[in-house]
Amino acid sequence: MDLAVFDVDGVLADVEHRRHHVSGARRDWAAFFAAAADDALLSQGAAMVRHEQGAGRLVVYLSGRPERLRAVTLSWLHDNGLPPADLVLRPDADHCPAVAFKLDRLREMASTFTIALLVDDDAQVVDAVRLHDPPLVITTVLADWQPDGARRAMRRGQRDGRT
Ligand SMILES: [Mg+2]
Repeated sequence: MDLAVFDVDGVLADVEHRRHHVSGARRDWAAFFAAAADDALLSQGAAMVRHEQGAGRLVVYLSGRPERLRAVTLSWLHDNGLPPADLVLRPDADHCPAVAFKLDRLREMASTFTIALLVDDDAQVVDAVRLHDPPLVITTVLADWQPDGARRAMRRGQRDGRT
């Protein structure tokens, strides 16, 4: 069975309401993650998960969230109607960049399975996977459906002639 690998934050979970915790000069990752239970569902990502499952792919959730958020994340996935699947999280003490963590996990998966699809909203992750030699994933999708208040505000500013 081929895999379809989905990031969680920014692909399935709308993190906009808690992004302010990590967008200022003082980044409070604990507060950012603590608010994860309140994320809204991103319907575009959820539809892709269901489509891949319907097409016979084995869904895997691969998130840079720390392990301590496993219970919160599993109940969030369940409460939002997403199918149960393997959930790969980052060890609590692992502070390497998300891209390094995800590449390591994808290399492990690719040693046993064909990874048909990877969906992530982090361009660094998607670029690294696309450039990886040997190829890790058949199709990569850069998710761009996370509403981004900061970007919206900037576009508004440009429209209003303030930037
Ligand atoms: Mg993400």
